[in-house]
Amino acid sequence: MTIVRAKVMGFCSGVRRAVQLAEQTVERTTGHPAYSLGKIVHNQTVADRLETKGLRLLADDGTPPPGAVVVIRSHGVPPETLRRLRDSGASIVDATCPKVVANQRLAASHAAAGRRVFIAGDEGHGEVMSLSGHAPGVVVVPDRESALACGHDGPSTLIAQTTMNQAEVDGIAAALAENNKDLIVAGGICGATADRQAALRELLPQVDAVVIVGGRDSANTRRLTAIAHEAGKPVWQVANADEISRGDVAGELSRFERIGLSAGASTPDEDIDAVEHRLMELAGKM
Ligand code: SF4
Repeated sequence: MTIVRAKVMGFCSGVRRAVQLAEQTVERTTGHPAYSLGKIVHNQTVADRLETKGLRLLADDGTPPPGAVVVIRSHGVPPETLRRLRDSGASIVDATCPKVVANQRLAASHAAAGRRVFIAGDEGHGEVMSLSGHAPGVVVVPDRESALACGHDGPSTLIAQTTMNQAEVDGIAAALAENNKDLIVAGGICGATADRQAALRELLPQVDAVVIVGGRDSANTRRLTAIAHEAGKPVWQVANADEISRGDVAGELSRFERIGLSAGASTPDEDIDAVEHRLMELAGKM
């Protein structure tokens, strides 16, 4: 068995920055409780490491105790949430990814200009909720079918969740444009997501099967898995190396000669390396 790594995979700059800020915060704030508003990143290895260092989890609608420091994750938050946290007396460490901030500003400026803002994205996803808070009257369109059902024909702007893929956004834009002559498609997809998807597409013809490393609650990891699946490749999404060792997965994978390896933007290097190590053990190369 040969393992072929995608040229680009794992932590993006926004997630790396958020994890570093969270680590620095727990190290600096001894004596004050440090919280993250929701998981800093959709990855259990990182969440466990930060929890061991003392970072506590605050529910999205939770109120921190007096004197707390709260880290805002890379998805960002709606302005009301930030106000509520500040009003509670918490100090804020804002790890919102600069690319998400750019989308928030875009949504706010188009809404302020009187345009209806549509977001191509997953309903209920943290980033989509944060973006929605910056543009009153936002409509979330997860797919082409829901876009076709939108009857709005006034001035409109479509902004994508950063982890959408271009084909999905193009489909949604075309469906919205059927009922709307004044639609601005303002972008929004993050290059980091596109780079990981392009690297996977480049890898697919070179391998017989694919392993994608990342949490099941990571939207961009699930999209990588979907891309491999749509290309007709046998694909396994695993959260960690132990999942490779499960009898059914190991048995299936050992049938293939060349295995491709990729990982979502929320997957740390240590998880990727551990999975590669376990695959090499499976191949008898360790
Ligand atoms: S995928 Fe892009 S937008 Fe999202 S955190 Fe990473 S760098 Fe930022």
